[in-house]
Amino acid sequence: MTKNDRIVIAGAGGFIAGALTRYFKQRGFTKLRAVDIKPIDQWYQVVEGVESIPECDLKVKENCYRVCDGAAEVYNLAADMGGMGFIEHNKAACMLSVLINTHMLMAAKDAGTVQRYFYSSSACAYNTQKQQDTHSTALREEDAYPAMAEDGYGWEKLFSERMCRHFMEDYGLVTRVARFHNVYGPHGTWDGGREKAPAAICRKVIQAKDTGVMKIAIWGDGHQTRSFMYIDDCLHGIDMIMHSDICEPLNLGSAELVSINDLVSIIEEIGGVKLARSYDLDAPKGVRGRNSDNTKIKKLLGWEPNISLREGLQKTYAWILQQYTDRKAGKKTVS
Ligand code: NAD
Repeated sequence: MTKNDRIVIAGAGGFIAGALTRYFKQRGFTKLRAVDIKPIDQWYQVVEGVESIPECDLKVKENCYRVCDGAAEVYNLAADMGGMGFIEHNKAACMLSVLINTHMLMAAKDAGTVQRYFYSSSACAYNTQKQQDTHSTALREEDAYPAMAEDGYGWEKLFSERMCRHFMEDYGLVTRVARFHNVYGPHGTWDGGREKAPAAICRKVIQAKDTGVMKIAIWGDGHQTRSFMYIDDCLHGIDMIMHSDICEPLNLGSAELVSINDLVSIIEEIGGVKLARSYDLDAPKGVRGRNSDNTKIKKLLGWEPNISLREGLQKTYAWILQQYTDRKAGKKTVS
């Protein structure tokens, strides 16, 4: 792989793949092809000097063949997804992302030039029965089986992981898979129903301060636990996993477990407020407790997160505050 080889990044109008495009651009790669179904004015990042292909539906096989043409590496991060509120109410739509990975794998195999293929799986692929209390043991890679993934979204991820494995075994396409655990940071979804907890809570705190209504509604009882990985750590991890010899899916996440109540407290401190909390027990809340066991990735690749939750949230809060302010002022928010 040289700096002049073509890299294809699917889902580049979104949060993680947009940041990945910038990451490779900053490292001097000259032939980057960024693809997304969204119109370009809805991309979070449009990176200068990159071949950006908007309005391209990668569920359609012909489009996958077109974008993979001449590629040396393919990163598939395109998926119809969002936070718990979205994935609990859109199971069929989430499962249809199987078409993206299926057609991208076929196109990558048939291109004849692809050296490596990356697939972004999720902690939602893990057996949900192993995540039933707030301090469930952190998830090790083998905990995906016996399979009982998150309904809809998680099953698609598990199936697609498995397909990557068999394209490698049967067709010799080198595939690499990471199971992301809650990634957050600037340039991601922060409103509209697809946002995840860190961005949603930042927005609610900002809104409360702005409107003077000093209340916050929390989904669930607030005791549910998660870990959250800052985007920069995720990007380094993707690069390391893609260029490693590890064929099995690897966890890529933080092992810093917090309850949603703790997350709210940190964001309140960043915003310099204290809000009255109410709990919506009927809202989608997902599994009770989920954390990443990083033993394997640390041992095999020496990877561990560098950015603490507080530091990452400070940057995320500042970015969402800017978006909120720009929107109120009627300015365009996409960079
Ligand atoms: P995102 O929603 O910001 O980005 C996904 C992008 O894929 C979007 O821009 C969307 O328009 C695009 N897309 C959807 N359907 C498409 C299609 N048919 N053709 C082309 N593009 C299409 O999400 P993200 O947070 O950046 O997630 C990226 C990947 O990482 C996804 O596969 C997701 O499942 C996985 N993941 C993310 C997290 C997280 O915490 N963000 C956690 C686990 C796994």
